[in-house]
Amino acid sequence: MSGRSEERAKFLADRMLGTLTRRLRLMGYDTLSASSLFPGSRREDTVLLEIARAQGRMLLTRDAELARRAGEQGVLVRSEQVDEQVAQLSDLGLVSLQLSFDRCSLCNTPLRPARRREIEGAEYAPEAREGLSFFWCPVCHRLYWMGSHTRRMREEMKKNRG
Ligand SMILES: [Zn+2]
Repeated sequence: MSGRSEERAKFLADRMLGTLTRRLRLMGYDTLSASSLFPGSRREDTVLLEIARAQGRMLLTRDAELARRAGEQGVLVRSEQVDEQVAQLSDLGLVSLQLSFDRCSLCNTPLRPARRREIEGAEYAPEAREGLSFFWCPVCHRLYWMGSHTRRMREEMKKNRG
């Protein structure tokens, strides 16, 4: 898990940024998605601005007008590609490039270490568990694990840092 103690940024992402939302959660960042909050409406931009301000979240958007209205509290996400989106947030000093596995990528709930029966009950868990760490989302009842795949992802992210 992350050893960093400073307060992490929190985010609110617009409907265009579903992939970025899941990636930020995997990196351990509390990220709300507009598409899980309410059905689309004409006032959506105004509601997003209100939530971002009330909850101290950075508003991530592909919409230049919405980013302008958010001012200091908004980021206009330039790329359509998730690695470049994360790199932009990193350049702005909002995120550090790591996967900490402490938040469910589907529902944003903090993960906890998985119990043995949860690991054994998950059909999709790998058979060889040597060297793997398992985590559990108590809301989705979904198992996560950190192993060679996630190590490779972290190495890729480090490589793309420069
Ligand atoms: Zn979940």
